[in-house]
Parts: sequence; C-alpha cells; structure tokens
Amino acid sequence: MMKQLSLFPEENTDPRPPATINWNLWHGCTRASTGCLHCYMYRRDESVGRDPSIVQKTSSFNLPVRTLRSGRYKGRYRIPAGSHIFTCFSSDFFHPDADNWRPDAWDMMQERSDCTFFMITKRPERIGDHLPLGWGQGFKHVTIAVTCENQEMIDKRLPVYLSLPLFHHSVMIEPMLSAVDLGQYISDYRSDDGSPVISHVSVGGESGPDARVCDFAWVADVQKQCSQNGISFYYHQTGARLIKDGKLYNIPRKLQHSQAYKAGLDI
Ligand code: SF4
Repeated sequence: MMKQLSLFPEENTDPRPPATINWNLWHGCTRASTGCLHCYMYRRDESVGRDPSIVQKTSSFNLPVRTLRSGRYKGRYRIPAGSHIFTCFSSDFFHPDADNWRPDAWDMMQERSDCTFFMITKRPERIGDHLPLGWGQGFKHVTIAVTCENQEMIDKRLPVYLSLPLFHHSVMIEPMLSAVDLGQYISDYRSDDGSPVISHVSVGGESGPDARVCDFAWVADVQKQCSQNGISFYYHQTGARLIKDGKLYNIPRKLQHSQAYKAGLDI
C-alpha cells in the first residue's frame, strides 16, 4: 500500500539544483555486478529491440568542444565556462570496449578545464591504467566516483579505488542492497592532513518495476558513519521500495528524490 506522502511529511521545497549538462560519450555496457541487474539502460534498450551490450560512440562525443558557427559568437564554445558536466550515464567510462575513444575524451576534458566533469564507474580496477598523461595526483575539475551496491563490492572496489591518485574520492552506494560498514576504509585510508580519503558518500535505492528493497536504517547508518568522520553525505533518492520502521513503502518515481531530501540526512 502506498504511503509515500506521510514518509517524510515536512513541506520543504527541494533547493538542490538539477544536473546541468549531460554528456554521453558512448552508449552500451556489460553488467559488472549484481548492482547492474536492473540497469535502466538495459531495460530501455531491450524495450526497443536494441542490444544494450554493444558499446557505441554517440553523436554527442565531441559536445564539450563544439563551437558556435554563426554571427558575432563564432568560435565560442556551445557549453559555457563553469558548466557542470555529467558524463557517460548509459555506459561506464572505463568499459574496455571504449579504450580506443577514451584518450580523445580525456583531451576534451583537459581542453575544457573551465568546466567540471563527473563520472561514475563500477570498474575501478581499470582506472589506473587508463588515466591521461599529466594526470599526476588527479585533475581538480574531474571527479571519478565509484559505485558499490553492497558490502561485497565495498570490500572489492574500495581498496583499489582509495589507492588511486584522484583529487576527489567519491563513493556512491546505489542501488543500496545491504547495510554497509565503511569503518575500515575510513580509518585505514587517510590523506596527508589526516582526513579520510573518502570525501563524499552518496546513497540511493533502486528504481524500476522490479526494484529491490532498501532499508532506511541502512541509509541512516551510513550517514552516521559519515557525519562522525567529517565526510559529506547525500541521500540521492529513496528508490521505488523503501522499508522504514518495519513498513514497506512503494514510492513513485517522481517522489523518490524529494522524499530523500525530506529525510533531512544530507550533510
Ligand atoms: S555499469 Fe552501469 S551502465 Fe553498465 S550495466 Fe552496470 S548499471 Fe548499466
């Protein structure tokens, strides 16, 4: 039975800005772990008879470096300086089938260092060998986040990910499929100033008709681990099926983000 409106009843208006610009360099992917089971890209492609496992370059590949052609603005980039650009949302930036295209992608990101770029991967083991020349300790304007849906993937992916030279270490637990303990990765991986290498954690449930449940207690527990260690935390969305205080809530897609915000966990 749907009880979403009483879940977090405060009448706050969500002030969080929407994602600014999406840049899909390539489309298609292969599943990396159980978190991919209900991948929305698979669902969408299969519904139109397309093979989602074939990785193809998109027509937007050079989007950040496209320029305006006409009038007095000729030569100016179409995407303005200061844009936040979210990349590769229907693939994985480090998918092996994209190895030949990635160097050009890095070049474009370097050319547009006046923007920020954000990408998510489930393949942190491939990052180290596929960073661009001049990467050093990381590009400040590029965030590579890792996704870990349960404790098994936390234990598999974080030791690799947290050892990489990245300017930002951002962990996404989405779709959250179990309680997770970050303690070892917070205490064992420290920056030069003594703070945790993990700088940000984002959590969300699973969406779609076959969504697996997420327990709000798991979410609150991760938030507590973050708040006790000075790590920023973002409750991205509730997912379609959320257990809270022993009750199961089926939450419509359009309310999953606002209900997460109303939980008041973001720090
Ligand atoms: S890595 Fe992402 S895009 Fe690829 S199959 Fe998994 S969920 Fe889908």
